[in-house]
Amino acid sequence: MRLDKFLAEVGLGSRKEVKQLIKKGQISVNQQIEKSEKKQVEPEKDQIAFQGEPLHYQEFYYYLLHKPAGVVSATEDSRDRTVMDLFAPVDYRSDLFPVGRLDKDTEGLLLITNDGQLAHELLSPKKHVEKEYFAKVAGVMTVEDQQRFVEGILLDGEKTLPAELLIDETTADSSKVRIILHEGKFHQVKRMVKACGKEVTYLKRIRMGDLELPSGLVKGNYRLLTAEEIASLK
Ligand code: URA
Repeated sequence: MRLDKFLAEVGLGSRKEVKQLIKKGQISVNQQIEKSEKKQVEPEKDQIAFQGEPLHYQEFYYYLLHKPAGVVSATEDSRDRTVMDLFAPVDYRSDLFPVGRLDKDTEGLLLITNDGQLAHELLSPKKHVEKEYFAKVAGVMTVEDQQRFVEGILLDGEKTLPAELLIDETTADSSKVRIILHEGKFHQVKRMVKACGKEVTYLKRIRMGDLELPSGLVKGNYRLLTAEEIASLK
């Protein structure tokens, strides 16, 4: 990788700014001042420093975002604001993307990363990563509905994998439930509830694998995953 690219990627500045730092002799590679921005470096091997302070290269970033309703799970959209628009300029990187999708009106836990392989594994139906949702439903969910969730519901001619429906609260005409899925079909929660003759009026993802939506994380905010949390996903 070129030295100027490395310096920009560790966040030292734009490509133009880091070129100036190189020209001014503020960057060293393996203890030697380096004046060429084209110098090829190996981030894992070479010791690269700014004013004598070693710089550390991070290849992958993992964020947990509390998605609010009203933004789409995409990196770009011609009409709507995207989850990437919630990122502060210092954290934004053009290679970040959301792992899977939540509907525009769904809130909750969304992972944002630039690690394509991890994203692929988390979304793979083979990995069966549990996703837990909290839903408010118009209508009363019943024991029969719970049975249907376990047995699988036909969506587009394909049966869903066994899912759990936990009924937390019911009134005469509404329910609060939690739903645990092991796959991620399009609008899956809403369609499974609809197949039971009821309608989701509010939906929030509260867990993915061992990763829970932190109670203190305000809607629209995000934080980096800890090393432990990243390890728990792999
Ligand atoms: N199921 C849905 O119906 N919508 C979502 O956003 C996520 C799961």
